[in-house]
Amino acid sequence: MKTAIVGGSIAGLAAALTLRCVGHDVTIFERTAAGMRGHGGGVAVLRQMMRFLEQHGHATRKTLAVPVEWRRWLASDGSLIDEGREIVPFSSWDAVYRSLSEMLPPDAVRYGEPVTNVRNLQGSVEIEINAREMVTADLLVAADGAGSGLRAMLFPDYQSSYAGYLAWRGVVEEAQLPAHLVAELDNSITLVRERDALFMTFPIPALDGAIEPGERRFNWLWYRNETDAALSRYLTDREGHRHHASVSPGGLSAEATAYLHDCAREKLPPVLEQLMTHTQAPFIQAIFDALSPSFAVGRVALVGDAACTVRPHTASGTSKAADDAITLAQTLSGLNPADNVEAALATWATARRTELGPLIARGKQLAQSFGLGASTQ
Ligand SMILES: Cc1cc2nc3c(=O)[nH]c(=O)nc-3n(C[C@H](O)[C@H](O)[C@H](O)COP(=O)(O)OP(=O)(O)OC[C@H]3O[C@@H](n4cnc5c(N)ncnc54)[C@H](O)[C@@H]3O)c2cc1C
Repeated sequence: MKTAIVGGSIAGLAAALTLRCVGHDVTIFERTAAGMRGHGGGVAVLRQMMRFLEQHGHATRKTLAVPVEWRRWLASDGSLIDEGREIVPFSSWDAVYRSLSEMLPPDAVRYGEPVTNVRNLQGSVEIEINAREMVTADLLVAADGAGSGLRAMLFPDYQSSYAGYLAWRGVVEEAQLPAHLVAELDNSITLVRERDALFMTFPIPALDGAIEPGERRFNWLWYRNETDAALSRYLTDREGHRHHASVSPGGLSAEATAYLHDCAREKLPPVLEQLMTHTQAPFIQAIFDALSPSFAVGRVALVGDAACTVRPHTASGTSKAADDAITLAQTLSGLNPADNVEAALATWATARRTELGPLIARGKQLAQSFGLGASTQ
């Protein structure tokens, strides 16, 4: 089956790998000009994905993770409120992205090729690349993220909704931090809770995957309730460009950066305020809830954040994307282009959307328990 995938991030790469395992000829179209690097912070290891690939003959490289043994809650003056043993291996977005990329042939991704239109035909899909080239495929997988343009084309009346809070984020090289600060934060996920905010930090592998002390990085996230008006201000970058949901490292406006540092001075324990002052390029991601009205239309299937987002507190966005890819490949295994692919996709879409209901609900409950979100403001 000739398959086109829109989006070369975690969901797109995962779908390319699983569909290749069941015999598809796959091309990924990615709008950015080159592979991504340093895109994000800590994520869980994709154990099920690696098991699926190994079962299909792939030699997978172990995704390295920094083991964390403790969960520690601090008060705003830095005193310890609670401490419990909890072993969590944190990998990084980059390490997961790299391990998936390296298993694909180098020409599997066409970079700098935005998909600008899509049309379901009888038994195929017509895809417009960069508003000039037309390509036909037997199947199209939309893995174009939470703000999916393909979802908007398929469901013009549907809109994702702002959940009422932002994640202010940063990643700091361990080598740039004073030794006492590393000692205080090492081996733990350190959290601070306010009435309408939640801060957390934990160590993750270096960009090249190194996990030795001194080479690792510290990832932090600070979820804060923000009104729609504040959202609009902070999503306007230093050049005055208004983004839909995120501003990348280096792009925050002077106003947003000043606000972040003011909040840190006022609300965080000194050790975490210091972590923030050592962060060279903080960035933001607004939390949006997206749940596509269906995960398939004709021969177009939606996976990853394009299909639906899960709140980050479940730490399962990447593993959900990988599970979308695995279940999609299992559904399509053995089918030929002349078969009723539409019916198989429709069955997969209904089952997958139903299966994800409890995870979506759990993410919202967790947010509410932390005082995060529109209903708590
Ligand atoms: C604050 C925050 C914290 C998170 N923390 C975690 C965590 O701890 N653990 C975890 O597992 N997950 C976490 N996630 C979620 C996780 O990052 C995503 O769920 C996961 O990476 C899947 O993303 P994706 O590949 O579907 O979309 P994206 O990563 O958004 O990728 C979409 C891709 O599509 C490309 N694209 C878009 N439009 C087009 C087009 N028209 N043509 C071609 N290419 C296009 C984009 O350039 C991009 O490369 C977090 C998310 C947020 C917001």
